[in-house]
Amino acid sequence: MIALNHVLLGGAIGANIDNYPAVIGLSVASHFVLDFLPHVDQGTEINGRELKFKLKYFLATLDVLVSSVIIVLILSARPGLNRYLVIIGAFSALLVDLVFNVPFWQQWTKKIQPFKAIDNFHEAIHRPFKKYQYSVGIPLQIIIIIMSLWLLLK
Ligand SMILES: [Zn+2]
Repeated sequence: MIALNHVLLGGAIGANIDNYPAVIGLSVASHFVLDFLPHVDQGTEINGRELKFKLKYFLATLDVLVSSVIIVLILSARPGLNRYLVIIGAFSALLVDLVFNVPFWQQWTKKIQPFKAIDNFHEAIHRPFKKYQYSVGIPLQIIIIIMSLWLLLK
């Protein structure tokens, strides 16, 4: 899924659970749950072809920057939130994609165990519901964004 989905849900977990190990564990787990659900993201093929490398990583970088700005805005609008837990939740929820989908080091993390095994699992969970990526995926991603924002702002 796009970073916005992962970061907002991780932030929402951090905003609602007052326990650092639980926030980290649940946020990392949430990454795999969201990637298992049908979705579109920068890696989605259009007419059987991936986006061009530069466009794909430009959109991914923009996605991470926009997500980070939204978290900062939420934290300034809601000073009562534990900002460390929200940031740790948001970061932990995105961590899997940062480890395996950043071109600078993915050549190592995709080859060296135990990273390779986690990467294979991460890739495999994208497949079962791929055919519903547009019909179910896009509405579902919007619902996840709204639900996460509500959990952060309530
Ligand atoms: Zn992922």
